[in-house]
Amino acid sequence: MNPIPELLLIEDDPQIRRFLRVAIEPEFYRLREAVTAADGLAQAAARQPDLILLDLGLPDGDGLDLIAKVRQFSGAPILVISARGNERDRVAALDIGADDFIGKPFGTGELLARIRAALRRVARPAGLAGTIRFGLVEADLDARIVKVAGAEVHLTPIEFKLLQTLLRYSGRVVTQRQLLNEVWGPNQVEHAQYLRVYVAQLRRKLEENPARPRHLLTEPGVGYRMLIE
Ligand code: CA
Repeated sequence: MNPIPELLLIEDDPQIRRFLRVAIEPEFYRLREAVTAADGLAQAAARQPDLILLDLGLPDGDGLDLIAKVRQFSGAPILVISARGNERDRVAALDIGADDFIGKPFGTGELLARIRAALRRVARPAGLAGTIRFGLVEADLDARIVKVAGAEVHLTPIEFKLLQTLLRYSGRVVTQRQLLNEVWGPNQVEHAQYLRVYVAQLRRKLEENPARPRHLLTEPGVGYRMLIE
């Protein structure tokens, strides 16, 4: 990563560009801007930004196509900013390789938190090992031991794999399809009910109040987001 993280904003709406500039620049990120898909793609290739903020509705092309093209040469986090409230678009953007989305209108605080989470993920070395703590939970991923308030809880192999996968993507939204693919395998991606059952089990074992989870959150219609801070 660059010493000063460089963000590329691809957005055609001048008001939103201005809003983002005002929000982002005081945080000492370097911000580059593109107003078309073509220029966005060219700058993403030439500058190799640390993170891309992308509007899905661009004058010369669809943001979804742009994500697929950028993913051919860059692993930089892509945070989609979109007025399209439509869940299908969000799921499509995430499945094609975006890391997260934020719906318009959004607040500065939330936007900056998402940017920090995405940049942290890149800064973290590949893979996940050691002990991760959140709430009352202490998960030793090497020894595969999970404790809640100091007492060991038994997780089934699938529960452990689901937890491990959610932790690897912590801070980001993960679609149901991604989770089913990674935990159960590519032949099981239609079985959303598996996920509901196992998420409920994990919440019962790990959350202080499973009915109002603070860590394993549902993103309605899209998937789940694990928060560990
Ligand atoms: Ca637009």
